Amino acid sequence: MSEVIDTVIVGAGHAGLALSCYLTRNGTEHIVLERGNVAERWRTERWDSLVFQFPNWSLQLPGRAYQGTDPDGYASKDEFIRFLEDYASIIRAPVRCDTEVVGLREAESRRSMILETTRGVIEAKNVVVATGPFQAPKIPALSRDLPRDLFQIPGDEAAALYELGAIRTHVSTPDVAQAGARFQEALTLADELRMRPLVAHCHLGLGKLYRRTEKPEQAHEHLTTALSMYREMDMRFYLKQAEAERGALA
Ligand SMILES: Cc1cc2nc3c(=O)[nH]c(=O)nc-3n(C[C@H](O)[C@H](O)[C@H](O)COP(=O)(O)OP(=O)(O)OC[C@H]3O[C@@H](n4cnc5c(N)ncnc54)[C@H](O)[C@@H]3O)c2cc1C
Repeated sequence: MSEVIDTVIVGAGHAGLALSCYLTRNGTEHIVLERGNVAERWRTERWDSLVFQFPNWSLQLPGRAYQGTDPDGYASKDEFIRFLEDYASIIRAPVRCDTEVVGLREAESRRSMILETTRGVIEAKNVVVATGPFQAPKIPALSRDLPRDLFQIPGDEAAALYELGAIRTHVSTPDVAQAGARFQEALTLADELRMRPLVAHCHLGLGKLYRRTEKPEQAHEHLTTALSMYREMDMRFYLKQAEAERGALA
């Protein structure tokens, strides 16, 4: 026998949680199924320097507004996770973590939906899919017709290229050609995708690489760019790193 419930929300991001708040207010029986933890996307699928894209004053979900002291600042990834965790507990959202929905179909009666989950089968009158937008890279068909030697990579791989550059920089004898090439590829891609924090990190990475391998002019150029970008974005943690690196050049 499967569990029967009025409404199932799939996904405990801010969309799923906000809806849960309204359903609780209406007295509608429901649960929220989450494959990981509340705000899982922000925990494991966003880069560390990501900040919420609007100022803190706009962090408002039904029944909960921003309570901090910096309304014009921007919440870091961790602050945003905390905001959602607090929200879930304040509204007492009935979240079931570590429960992934792996199948969804109409019941034979055609009066309900059947959800197959990693923890059993659930039958629900209503199902709301709040699993987040734009999670699969969209690769244009044109890419198949491009010459094979043309380097192509999905957008979410820019961060991976950056990490490869960083790894090759931090070994005892940095591989300048390889590290430089990976940072440069990451930089080009991040720039194209307008991932400004990652662009700044690439400049910082190149600056560190060139400082360590005694190319002071190139190091100075990249560190100066990183500094001004971090300043513009008010990314103080990295700004200090870039300042220290440039200071060490003098
Ligand atoms: C590439 C990218 C970059 C972004 N950058 C920013 C940014 O810089 N700043 C910003 O503010 N916003 C950014 N966003 C937008 C941000 O993702 C959304 O604002 C917000 O996370 C969407 O909330 P949501 O509740 O709709 O979905 P999500 O936060 O994605 O929540 C969906 C939830 O559903 C869960 N889930 C998924 N599939 C299943 C399943 N089968 N079973 C159970 N649970 C499941 C996930 O684990 C997740 O917790 C970005 C989005 C993308 C795609």
